[in-house]
Amino acid sequence: MPGGKTIFPGALKNRKEKQVIRLYGKVREVDGKKLWEDTQEVLGVPWDLPITGYNTERVNTLRLWEGRATEGFDLDSFDAGRYQDSRFREILAENISQVLYPNDSHPEGKELRFIQQYFFVACSLADLIARYKREHQGWEEFTRKVVIQLNDTHPAIAVPELMRILMDEEDFVFTRALEVCRSVFCYTNHTLLPEALETWPQGLVARVLPRHMQLIYKLNYHFLNKEVEVQWPGDHQMKRRLSIIEEPTNPAEPQMVRMAYLSVIGSHKVNGVAALHSMLVKANLFPEFDQLWPEKIVNVTNGVTPRRWLANCNPELAELIDQTLSGDWRSDLAQLSELKTRADDPQFQETFARIKLDNKKHLAGVIDELCGVKVNPEAIFDVQIKRLHEYKRQQLNLLHIIAIYRRLLEDPDLDVPQRVFIFAAKAAPGYLVAKNIIYAINRVAERVNNDRRIRDKLKAVFLPNYRVSLAEKIIPAANVSEQISTAGFEASGTGNMKFALNGALTIGTLDGANVEIAEEVGEDNIFIFGKTVDDVSDLRQRGYNPRDVYQHNEELKAVIDWLASGDFSPDEPDAFRPLLESLLDSDYFLTLADYQSYSDAHDRIVQAWKNPSHWWRMAIINTASMGKFSSDRSIVDYCKTIWNIEV
Ligand SMILES: *Cc1c(COP(=O)(O)O)cnc(C)c1O
Repeated sequence: MPGGKTIFPGALKNRKEKQVIRLYGKVREVDGKKLWEDTQEVLGVPWDLPITGYNTERVNTLRLWEGRATEGFDLDSFDAGRYQDSRFREILAENISQVLYPNDSHPEGKELRFIQQYFFVACSLADLIARYKREHQGWEEFTRKVVIQLNDTHPAIAVPELMRILMDEEDFVFTRALEVCRSVFCYTNHTLLPEALETWPQGLVARVLPRHMQLIYKLNYHFLNKEVEVQWPGDHQMKRRLSIIEEPTNPAEPQMVRMAYLSVIGSHKVNGVAALHSMLVKANLFPEFDQLWPEKIVNVTNGVTPRRWLANCNPELAELIDQTLSGDWRSDLAQLSELKTRADDPQFQETFARIKLDNKKHLAGVIDELCGVKVNPEAIFDVQIKRLHEYKRQQLNLLHIIAIYRRLLEDPDLDVPQRVFIFAAKAAPGYLVAKNIIYAINRVAERVNNDRRIRDKLKAVFLPNYRVSLAEKIIPAANVSEQISTAGFEASGTGNMKFALNGALTIGTLDGANVEIAEEVGEDNIFIFGKTVDDVSDLRQRGYNPRDVYQHNEELKAVIDWLASGDFSPDEPDAFRPLLESLLDSDYFLTLADYQSYSDAHDRIVQAWKNPSHWWRMAIINTASMGKFSSDRSIVDYCKTIWNIEV
């Protein structure tokens, strides 16, 4: 790559289509026109990454934006009160496009993060409008040509940004600008976790984007007094509840801008990412919006691309499928259902199992390389790979591993198959309990893997640096897929789909897309356990005390006491305190409440494994039943129910 370092590998810098983005400043009114003045400017430089499709001549462009200081940026003219020295230039120019905030569950309360969100939105919108104008006169075609999908609330500031462009630069009146926004924007909700619902302090928004704050107030006023008022006349409590501006209960706290409400109010459709999740979005997250706009909230169940998550990552299985089916399953995944006719065929089962074993041998090499642990490819490979979060319950898996270890120490001749438990995960940097769970898994694994008394019946490994390229090596080698989130917390999951597609059997709760996976594969071909969404809410209503479960379950109590004893970490007796406190003091994610049911489900897995023709029949049926979970089907659903595009 000529001309210095490449910040986006594989992308080409486009020097001609830069954007200038404004920040800070103030708004002045002249003859009824709003002028946003005395702003600071940042350059957005486009980098174009070609995206090649499958079996098509077309190549799309993913345009990424690099933040740069504007040339001749004048530090002296800068507001010295707030940003002395070169902090501003450094933060903005160097960091806007360099720091990816890794925390997917609660946003950092950082000005830079907010500026970053606005920067990417403003660059993309300006670019989109410039390209529209190159090909069209006037705005008549705009809403027919453009759709903007807000991927979670992170780009929600796009709503007031488009209103600003339309009203201040294109002379639209407010109501017409709002109509345009509501034609082009749609919003996908990705989580119900309350701490993940983004809000920004009103003062920060007003300081960084003063004109946008005015427009948010204007939109809020219109929404509450023209729309909420019609549905619930005179209901001030309702206006308070639905306001984009959250009033603090403590007046010393700041007012907050609710980005999710801004997204719902500015969009024509809002979708959840699995049937259960969309139901909960309607019933629990936005019930009033659902009453106000009964057609607005819809479901589009997520999917995964069969090209990456089967054809590319599992070439042997892809070849077997090619030899078995006549059509192009790569672009029509529903065709996999034909494989069901072969599920009982001993020859087909044997080939299917042999391919899985080959993949496991390859993964065993990777595990040895990365962890220095030798594992037997003939063992059950039981895998939990996903971001580390208490709701995903890696700690439940860990407690069960310790229980197996304990059972084996009590009876080393126990008639159980060899098992390898494989983890990979990253935790958000500030999430102490999550970090502690990673540490606990590693300490327990180290002990188990080196205990000769259990004669290799049990191994546990935690592979470092979890990422897509590692997932592509692990998933084709999995026998068991751990999808064990607390019911109601995993919006969809997509790892669950990748595993089942590659012939792993799921042990899972009735959460997210697991519900639909169970429907597709049939209840005999999946290991469902644990509390349902309704059970969880009943239990919370009754009042849940994890210590009751702990006191009454002998094995669970022994496992927790052992973890607390310091035996796994003699050098640091208190090493797992954050985890143990979380489990015993509140257990918000009901780990202990689901323990016995989880352990029983694992016993059913062991029984199934002991009957290979039964196991491989189930595995083949899983692969054969994944047609629905192609991302191609998801995209068709978006086209039909949200974008109004003919397919
Ligand atoms: C698929 C995938 C995920 C999502 O996994 P879930 O189990 O659905 O949470 C996360 N990270 C990587 C690298 C993935 O490939």
